[in-house]
Amino acid sequence: MSETPTATMSENAATEPATDNSAAEATEENTVLFTDFGLDGRVLAALSDVGYEKPSPIQAATIPVLLEGRDVVGLAQTGTGKTAAFAIPALSRMAELPPTKNTQILVLAPTRELALQVAEAFSSYASHMENFTVLPVYGGSPYGPQLAGLRRGAQVVVGTPGRVIDHIEKGSLDLSELQYMVLDEADEMLRMGFAEEVDQILSKTPEDKQVALFSATMPTAIRRIAKKYLKDPAEITVKAKTTTGTNTRQRYLQVMGPHKLDAMTRILEAEDFDGVIAFVRTKMATEDLADKLKSRGYRAAAINGDIPQQQRERTVEALRDGKIDILVATDVAARGLDVERISLVVNYDIPHDTESYVHRIGRTGRAGRSGDAILFMTPREKYLLRAIEKATRQPVEQMHLPSAETINNLRMSKFAEKITETLSSEDVSIFRDLITNYETEHNVPAAEIAAALAVMAQGGRPLLVQDLPEAPKGQRERAAGGRDAMGSRGPTRALTEGNATYRIAVGRRQRVMPGSIVGAIANEGGLSAAQIGGIDIRSDHSLVELPADLSQDQLRALSRTRIGGELIHLELDSGRKPRRDQGDFGGSRGGYGSDRPFKKKFDGDRPYKKKFDGDRSFSKDRGERSDFAGQGAGARKPRHKSY
Ligand code: ADP
Ligand code: MG
Repeated sequence: MSETPTATMSENAATEPATDNSAAEATEENTVLFTDFGLDGRVLAALSDVGYEKPSPIQAATIPVLLEGRDVVGLAQTGTGKTAAFAIPALSRMAELPPTKNTQILVLAPTRELALQVAEAFSSYASHMENFTVLPVYGGSPYGPQLAGLRRGAQVVVGTPGRVIDHIEKGSLDLSELQYMVLDEADEMLRMGFAEEVDQILSKTPEDKQVALFSATMPTAIRRIAKKYLKDPAEITVKAKTTTGTNTRQRYLQVMGPHKLDAMTRILEAEDFDGVIAFVRTKMATEDLADKLKSRGYRAAAINGDIPQQQRERTVEALRDGKIDILVATDVAARGLDVERISLVVNYDIPHDTESYVHRIGRTGRAGRSGDAILFMTPREKYLLRAIEKATRQPVEQMHLPSAETINNLRMSKFAEKITETLSSEDVSIFRDLITNYETEHNVPAAEIAAALAVMAQGGRPLLVQDLPEAPKGQRERAAGGRDAMGSRGPTRALTEGNATYRIAVGRRQRVMPGSIVGAIANEGGLSAAQIGGIDIRSDHSLVELPADLSQDQLRALSRTRIGGELIHLELDSGRKPRRDQGDFGGSRGGYGSDRPFKKKFDGDRPYKKKFDGDRSFSKDRGERSDFAGQGAGARKPRHKSY
């Protein structure tokens, strides 16, 4: 950015070059088509395969500028299509160069998951380019396959900063022919403490490359990077308005794990809804919740990645046709799902990150209809609200469980309605005679008889409910009064068997958050979030519960991991020993999963694990693109999302 004032931020608006600004503004209601950009035909063909109808605003604004060869800072919130905004012009430019095996495009992404997502997107947009390879490289997985992939040659490398540095240092990643470099989700990358790595990598790339920086927000640290490494970038900001349609009302409900099912059914009773989608974390939980809802009389079905594609499609059809009302899904299985009828999204289990949240609630409020999104969370998870509100740029209101009184009144009036309805639509004469006889024979008033029949009609189910506690007292106090309630989940919890306590050299003083610890460790150590237990943030260090048997490789990678720029110096803490009794943090809660602080990523349902099988590159000529076929609903089918 330097001296040239190109910022579209409001305070600079007056001084910026009109071209950039008008590009961004003009496309707010854009009618531009992908075919208007002069993209390479193979890229256009791929776009038509994936079913994108027209560019999203950020794409419409950045694609022409990037095609010109200019550096770009692109700011737009999550879910606005930033990946394609940098991938499409990059591929189109590469397609016009003479074929090569060299790495021409390098994308840095904050987490392994995001690196995989970007790699997948690149591959799909490059599906018509011959002998073209996209290789994801990320921490925590063995070097072998990545090295082999790099040796074979990958025109596009998408990686997490730590692992990219490793490959540069090992000499396995040659960036001398690099044409195009992308810093994706730059704010997240810095939040995760990768500033230094990003600096290092940028300083090792050729001077004359094109650089694109994409981010949801623009903290000063990003300005600094942009200023240092981008040449006169066009700064393109697309204002919030997209993703979470403003016609979706967002609410959260504080509820403890064991009460979720009751809370859910109570909401279903009290809310007006058409179609519902409930998100849970694991495949097993989809079946479990769907069964429980069915046994409570709801028409529900589960979809998850284990259910064959055809059956999943049938289930989605059933929802669309109103044959079922509730779909219980994992994030992966519901990706891209577009059913107009869905009027309510219940985040039954908390999402893995804000991005999943945005994707989840995007399932409702479709086609201009209004939608509702409800997030279940424990008091300890409350801090993630801020992250969600930031990501969606919308407030999430607290809701309270409909009271027993509300539900009971509803049930009673429904019951009365049913009587009226039956009287008007059914022939009740046989029963009328029977009752009249009974009345005289037994000398019992008709009201008594009717009451007995009502009990029979209920089939043993009680008509009325009792109030549920929103959060047990102990839990509430701990969450509210506990020192650093969100960060310190360690000390009150006994270690899980097989785990050990490790010490890292960053703490409150360095302002670490549990999320960044989990992010960094999961990423660089190749652990899943499920393997990361309690985190206790102290003043100048933190204690983290991890598997006792970390491999040498993992220990090495983790000892070199940084958070907020500081080396974490992971080491075993001599304090606590594993105990057999698994501590239950929250008291009344059974599972552990429901109580995890919001962390950057992944347990349960990894989207891309299967197909990438660790670390394979996928190049068209080796026929590996077919690996994508087995993915979540919508991954293969063209999506017709309109912006
Ligand atoms: P961001 O990086 O801004 O969070 P992504 O690049 O991950 O967003 O895109 C979000 C979703 O939108 C993806 O599922 C992607 O396939 C889809 N998408 C991107 N561009 C378009 C488009 N032009 N038309 C329809 N869907 C699109
Ligand atoms: Mg993105």
